[in-house]
Amino acid sequence: MVSYKNHSEKIRLIKEGKLSLTENTSFFLKRITENKHLNAYNFVFDDCIAAASKIEDKIKFGIAGKLAGMVIAVKDVLAIKDKPLTCSSNILKDFTSIYTASAVQKLIDEDAIIIGKTNCDEFAMGSSNENSAFGKVLNPIDNTRVPGGSSGGSAVAVAANLCDVSLGTDTGGSIRQPASFCGIIGLKPTYGRVSRFGLTAFASSFDSIGPFANSVSDIALVLEVISGHDNKDSTCQKVSVPDYSKLCEERKKFRIGIPKEYFSEGLHPEVREAIEKKIESLKFRGHTFVDITLPHTEYSIAAYYILTTAEASSNLARYDGTHYGFRSQKPSNLNELYTSSRTQGFGSEVKRRIMLGTYVLSAGYYDAYYIKAQKVRRLLKQDFDNAFKQVDLILTPTTPSAAFKIGEKTNDPLAMYLEDIYTTSANLVGIPGISLPIGNNSEGLPIGMQLMANQFQEKTLLQFSNQIL
Ligand code: GLN
Repeated sequence: MVSYKNHSEKIRLIKEGKLSLTENTSFFLKRITENKHLNAYNFVFDDCIAAASKIEDKIKFGIAGKLAGMVIAVKDVLAIKDKPLTCSSNILKDFTSIYTASAVQKLIDEDAIIIGKTNCDEFAMGSSNENSAFGKVLNPIDNTRVPGGSSGGSAVAVAANLCDVSLGTDTGGSIRQPASFCGIIGLKPTYGRVSRFGLTAFASSFDSIGPFANSVSDIALVLEVISGHDNKDSTCQKVSVPDYSKLCEERKKFRIGIPKEYFSEGLHPEVREAIEKKIESLKFRGHTFVDITLPHTEYSIAAYYILTTAEASSNLARYDGTHYGFRSQKPSNLNELYTSSRTQGFGSEVKRRIMLGTYVLSAGYYDAYYIKAQKVRRLLKQDFDNAFKQVDLILTPTTPSAAFKIGEKTNDPLAMYLEDIYTTSANLVGIPGISLPIGNNSEGLPIGMQLMANQFQEKTLLQFSNQIL
């Protein structure tokens, strides 16, 4: 198979007759079969070959869209009409969507080929993709390790060359952390940049949809397509969408903040060393670095797990055995129908979150936990507002260490939650973040570096990323 480094090169090869889109799509289907053990996909769509052949004609006639022939995998929390939507949960095991998520529709409208739906942690709750009802996903670099989560399948699909680009979702790090563990790029946009219509809600004031890819230009192109206002999501902002794919080519010098709170105890020495080396090389290229402080960082994990579980407990109330999906058999009354459907349908991590969320919202604890966490959220926002008065970007590690072993943290939820220590703040304050691969540790595992920018400054993230990869 002819290889290419990004979408524009792929299009050029197709136009020159050097690459057949149907063959290219079949190639991905074959690779998915050969790599079944990775368990990256929940569903593969065979109709993608027919789509490829139609789009190939459109390319030849010069009438194809911006994403013509880009083969894209979609996390199985996003709705696609007439296709299964399971959220990797038994409670939705046999559910079929009756409409398409706006972000996915925009991809289809620009002639992307949707090849299938990727595995993930159940309802996007997790950091290792071990919480899926359809089995764990393996890291393609070392099969004894996790790919990260919750968008593990989407990250693996790109890292193992099982598609060109994928969509994931990020509520507290679920795009950036698996990107880091799999050695690829993952972008979480500003909250409100991409419509959430058709995204199964986990924590509605945190959830965002974003791309995984191997090149910054593909990330920029997909972001440009999926961004923009949507009448079907009232939190999706009316902010114009820049030409990200053109703008990311501009070369500029940036002022970058290094927050000391992200380089303290708990950071693996090899990750620290890789980031410090990268900073030195960036100084050499003329970017300016300043030490900054984000003083409320230590409270972000606690605030995140209080607020997201509260929102999840409410969002997941709709799975009750009557409206959607799984219904337990022969209950003796309505209450038992609800209880047994939920008890049998949800996995243990989801139940843990529903219980935590119900607890923090209950009378007597609401003020002590929920309101307090909202106040922390506000303080974190102030930290970032102050920081962005001084700098264009904030640079941190994406995760405290490289990909961990399968099973290493499954019995220790707190250790698992600490995985999100550097990523949750961006969701709490609604800003964009990207994870870039910057090298490997002594065991050959990828190390990721995170960059965050102010709200709607994806352009800055992309311009900087494009210069350093
Ligand atoms: N790992 C985090 C959690 O389990 C983030 C999940 C996500 O971003 N979807 O909540």
